Amino acid sequence: MPTSEISGFYKKSMEERLALVKRFAGLSAEESKAIGTTGALDPALVDRMIENVVGAMPLPLGIAVNFLINGRDYLVPMAIEEPSVVAAASNSAKMARAAGGFEAHTTEPVMIGQIQVVDVPDPQAARMRVLEIKERILEVCNEKDPVLVKFGGGARDLEARVIETHRGPMVIVHLLVDCRDAMGANAVNTMVEAAAPVVEEVTGGRVYLRIISNLAVKRLARAKATFPKDAIGGDEVVEGILEAYAFAAADPYRCATHNKGIMNGVDAVVIATGNDWRAVEAGAHSYAAMGGHYGPLTTWEKNRDGDLVGTIELPLAVGLVGGATATHPTAKANVKLLGVKTAQELAQIIAAVGLAQNFAALRALATEGIQRGHMSLHARNIAVMAGATVDEVDEVVRRLVSERVIRVDRAQDILKEIRAKK
Ligand code: NAD
Repeated sequence: MPTSEISGFYKKSMEERLALVKRFAGLSAEESKAIGTTGALDPALVDRMIENVVGAMPLPLGIAVNFLINGRDYLVPMAIEEPSVVAAASNSAKMARAAGGFEAHTTEPVMIGQIQVVDVPDPQAARMRVLEIKERILEVCNEKDPVLVKFGGGARDLEARVIETHRGPMVIVHLLVDCRDAMGANAVNTMVEAAAPVVEEVTGGRVYLRIISNLAVKRLARAKATFPKDAIGGDEVVEGILEAYAFAAADPYRCATHNKGIMNGVDAVVIATGNDWRAVEAGAHSYAAMGGHYGPLTTWEKNRDGDLVGTIELPLAVGLVGGATATHPTAKANVKLLGVKTAQELAQIIAAVGLAQNFAALRALATEGIQRGHMSLHARNIAVMAGATVDEVDEVVRRLVSERVIRVDRAQDILKEIRAKK
């Protein structure tokens, strides 16, 4: 058995690493090529983006159409491997257009950086002392990022709390930083690190963690849309969606899936634009659980005319500069395709897509059921999994759907029959 303990793996070239992996796992030439192909990415760039690189992992990129947001038309790039998400978003956006599309807005792009202070003799008084020297701390932080300040951002405010933990009381300082068009993690982390010695001095305690919080409650994106009852299938559909929403609001098991559907849309745009989807996921779910009860990120109501009105509110820490947004050529082209000029505009689009996605899922559940609605897309995946070639896929899908048995073993049987006839 070969060993996975490989010293100096990072020092090798991409080709050497891939050759090593190929030997280790007994990959075929074809499999090794599938891993090593970097697509639109220059191999030299990929090798600098993360560590121990051997290749790239391409995802399908689809374009959601029909989006009208704040009176402006957008084509929305979505990177996702799951079938039917892009179609569903486009379909919802079309129905929302009937009543003017989506209205979206954001708060200022303010992120929170945390400084944890322990072993403070007088935590409450220390909290006061930190707040008293707020201006000095903000100055120290802003000196660290003149570029951000030049673009109209920077450290804006300070908050301090005393929390009780099982290790005793801690003073937690929050630095509020306007990150403008950056996601902001590096910017904020640099600032809280700079502020730490000052905080330590004034509190008389010891600073441990100094890092951004992904619970970005000060960087919210919101969107709203009306789905006219006549455009979505009538009163029954409206009532069905309201029932489904009530279920999610009352039950965390359902709510997890309700929010997952929203994140299908959110993540796809976040990934397509080179943003950090783990940060967005962490923010969304922690926001959904604020107040101690895990709840839906959307709301659904009926207006006086009986039409369905949906809203969404979630933290969206996305940027147009920094991280992969600045280096990934596909991400950069996608941002151009979207035509957004600020990170806030991007967040508004993402919120609208999240709302559209949620509407599509609820409508499908409330009417025909997700599985039936997506049967042929699902069948296509199953046919490919069963080994159908490009020429065979359509026939296998047709038969799977007509038999209503979407299983790999059945697809394999059908393939055998098709091939026997040839
Ligand atoms: P960054 O530091 O690469 O870029 C931000 C900098 O760009 C700013 O500090 C500023 O100096 C400059 N800038 C130029 N034009 C600007 C403009 N118009 N608006 C704002 N800033 C402008 O990136 P970042 O956004 O600070 O950090 C993002 C990266 O951090 C992501 O790759 C993310 O994955 C990673 N990260 C995330 C976490 C987390 O979420 N917990 C932790 C660590 C790192």
